[in-house]
Amino acid sequence: MKDYDVVVIGAGTGGYVAAIRAAQVGLTVAVVEKQKALGGTCLIWGCIPTKALLEHAHALKVVQHAKEWGVTGAQGPIGIDMSQVHARKDRIVGGLTKGVEFLFKKNKIEWIKGTARLAGNGGIEIFEGDKQTLRARKEIIVATGSAPRSVPGVTIDRKRIITSDEAIHLAEVPKSIAVLGSGAVGVEFASIFRRFGSDVTIFELLPRLVPVEDEAVSAELEKSFRKQGITSHTGAKVTKAVAAGDAVDIEAQLADGTTKTLRADYLLVATGRGPVTAGLEIERLGVEMEKGYIAVDAMYRTSVPGISAIGDVITVRGLQAHPQLAHVSSAEGIVAAERIAGRETRPINYDHVPGCTYCEPEIGSVGLTEREAQERGYDVRVGTFPFGVLARAKMAGDVEGFVKIVADKKYDEVLGVHMIGLRSTELVAEATLALRLESTVEELIRTIHAHPTMAEAVGEAAHATHGAAIHL
Ligand SMILES: Cc1cc2nc3c(=O)[nH]c(=O)nc-3n(C[C@H](O)[C@H](O)[C@H](O)COP(=O)(O)OP(=O)(O)OC[C@H]3O[C@@H](n4cnc5c(N)ncnc54)[C@H](O)[C@@H]3O)c2cc1C
Repeated sequence: MKDYDVVVIGAGTGGYVAAIRAAQVGLTVAVVEKQKALGGTCLIWGCIPTKALLEHAHALKVVQHAKEWGVTGAQGPIGIDMSQVHARKDRIVGGLTKGVEFLFKKNKIEWIKGTARLAGNGGIEIFEGDKQTLRARKEIIVATGSAPRSVPGVTIDRKRIITSDEAIHLAEVPKSIAVLGSGAVGVEFASIFRRFGSDVTIFELLPRLVPVEDEAVSAELEKSFRKQGITSHTGAKVTKAVAAGDAVDIEAQLADGTTKTLRADYLLVATGRGPVTAGLEIERLGVEMEKGYIAVDAMYRTSVPGISAIGDVITVRGLQAHPQLAHVSSAEGIVAAERIAGRETRPINYDHVPGCTYCEPEIGSVGLTEREAQERGYDVRVGTFPFGVLARAKMAGDVEGFVKIVADKKYDEVLGVHMIGLRSTELVAEATLALRLESTVEELIRTIHAHPTMAEAVGEAAHATHGAAIHL
């Protein structure tokens, strides 16, 4: 039986980062991963392939508008060659997963190839693949992530009623695709397929698109999607979906009480992801669970000493909703590894987690929405600045969207920043730092923003929060 200080189960962005940090702080580490490559959902099926497809969609947009840019030579019908798209995307994914392998070697982390279950008393049994039993002297970190799940009435067949796992591999651009759910995954695929030329229809149960975002952001996205020809049904419940040959028949109850039927080439189910714990035998050891998720404290300890858990598979006690995001799982992995090594570490403030959605126009947000700030009892003031006024946006030919700051009137503290439009997923970094440093709006005003940049909108939104933007 091989012994390590730490054994990590799962090499997603949670597990592999936890392993690297644990090795950096002097622990011996093995990672058990059942896939043929390291990197988990994010690298293989999630963040990376979807964002690669979005870059292709953007390239297509630029070429479609070649004339406007004065670019000549792009005559004839403009299309997209999906075999080349997939080849390029797969090269990017392959390069990044190999990069994690390199980091494992560099940090002397052993990759045990197989499927693990917990055997009790620090034991980990690899029952598929490289069969053996390992022992974790200090701690086991469970980082087994999440998998797509559906809603009642909709059975995923992975052929016509698909998940994001299949959507990233579609060999041809569908003529039509319906998307169930308008969270990040749903609206990103809606953007990709619409740009590629599909008819796209979104069904969202809640009253607005991207329901976790500030209401102003949802309204702006709905406006933009409408302009792009994406049909959105909000407040709509899909009650039936039946795959029939090379199409799927969908039935939905719309907000006005009417029933809508639709035939589409595919139905993409993007209604969220559930925890992966099947076969782990974690409950047998008495680990406390919550709705199938592994319950942990703010330092990622489960109810059983010697077993920690991080990433998409957990729920944090006392936290209303645990965000299933790559950077969150990595941050949790770092905290867990440092705590296990006895190093000083700091708990994560989940109010300061940036969220990025890479649809078109893209969304970046951090902190409280206007409504959340009101619900927490703050005397709220907001300031908004439209990107369309900025020189940089005009040059880029992309003038949609805005930056909105939510602040507390009493102490002038920045409580949340919400943006939709060009480069929002990058601009949110400044806002995240502002929240982390408990910045006031005044500090954002006094921070000099380079000209001409999209970031000027952050400074201007701060001015607007104090009552007067310079360029409005
Ligand atoms: C389409 C899509 C797009 C996304 N885009 C983004 C984005 O842009 N930004 C962002 O922040 N997040 C994004 N996410 C979410 C992000 O991918 C996840 O939050 C992140 O991957 C979670 O990391 P994790 O380490 O907890 O789990 P995972 O990445 O799911 O990794 C878990 C790993 O554990 C392995 N495993 C499971 N059980 C066992 C076992 N018993 N034995 C051995 N190995 C096991 C699995 O094979 C897997 O490799 C996206 C997700 C999807 C689906």
